[in-house]
Amino acid sequence: MIILVVNAGSSTLKCQLIDMDNEECLMKSNAERIYGPGTFMNVTFLPSKNKEHFEMEGASHADCLSKLLETIFASDECPVNSIEDIAGAGNRIVSGGEYFDRSALVTDDTLEKVKICGELAPLHNPHAAACIEALREVAPNLPQVLVFDTAFHIAGLPEKAYRYALPEKYYSEYKIRRYGAHGTSHKYAAEKAAEVLGKNVEDLNIITCHLGSGGSVSAVEGGRCIDTTMGLTPLEGILMGTRTGSMDPAIVTFIMRRDNCTLDEMDDLMNKKSGLLAISGISNDMRELEEGAIAGNEKCRLALDMYNRSVQKAIGSFYAIMPRTDAVVVTAGIGENSEFTRREIFEGLEHMGMIVDPEKNKGRGGDRVISADDSPVKVLIISADEEMCIARETMALI
Ligand code: AMP
Repeated sequence: MIILVVNAGSSTLKCQLIDMDNEECLMKSNAERIYGPGTFMNVTFLPSKNKEHFEMEGASHADCLSKLLETIFASDECPVNSIEDIAGAGNRIVSGGEYFDRSALVTDDTLEKVKICGELAPLHNPHAAACIEALREVAPNLPQVLVFDTAFHIAGLPEKAYRYALPEKYYSEYKIRRYGAHGTSHKYAAEKAAEVLGKNVEDLNIITCHLGSGGSVSAVEGGRCIDTTMGLTPLEGILMGTRTGSMDPAIVTFIMRRDNCTLDEMDDLMNKKSGLLAISGISNDMRELEEGAIAGNEKCRLALDMYNRSVQKAIGSFYAIMPRTDAVVVTAGIGENSEFTRREIFEGLEHMGMIVDPEKNKGRGGDRVISADDSPVKVLIISADEEMCIARETMALI
């Protein structure tokens, strides 16, 4: 049974074809700079790693998806020759609002709700909905599933964690609350960590850190997420590549008054022009910042110091609210790949019993323990496999 996984980002589209009989990936595609300038898509077939490259200036998400299907059907090495060879499609949905505490099948009703939740994830939900509709058009009978970044948090967070200290109407009428993000990743990281430790996730309290270009930290108590750093939108919490993370909310009105800027300009400033990029002045890519800091660039050093501190504070705050912390897990681009940043973050947390072994910390990826044998709190790297999680959820529902 072959599942197509569709992951629409703000200007990217990542897809995979996964043969669920052996959980083997048959194809990976990556479209970037959607709407241009410089739109392109790479399609890689596995296991051969044969790659096709397309320049698609100005293409939309739906354009990329139809080009991808055309490429798959035309390829000799892929066992998928028509849409009938695909059993279902799993769509990553950034926000399901309060509507969804688990994955759901695509119907007119659920799709409408995804669109309504576009208010909460304007850079993502509309593109995901466009992909679902494009697929529905070419394959009206193909079962499609919605897998939500928010569902893990909606299912677990108690009211004291999800409410903001605003008057009641902002929650009851406007639905302003903490929804969280990266839920699929946090859930997978916690469950996989329990497996690596040889324990049941129900018996463990784990702090999961999704450290990628976007990032969030969650407290997972007995397999349920009881708190998380991201809020109404993916702007709150730890410092990110181009996003501010948490700051005094009064800064928003201060800047808007001072610069007389529009809502969109302010939104753009906080989401796209801030974070590591703003502090370093050169890049939002952690690799470049680490190189810069090692070469003596003080702004890069400051960006890393601020990043590390924001992650340390998030871990510390969740350590404080859980009855006991058994493990801390890092995942995603920075968490999995950066020995340097992992070392710096955990060097500041030894007093909380999180002692990373420098030898075990070496290298990239893997599902493994990197804490010292006598570390009271275990520290692990778990390789994020968001697409596989989406494919499994899709299988379960179809
Ligand atoms: P993601 O959003 O999960 O793809 O993560 C992207 C982030 O991971 C970017 O900031 C990259 O710079 C960072 N990253 C990827 N590989 C490395 C590496 N080898 N060392 C440090 N950071 C990395």
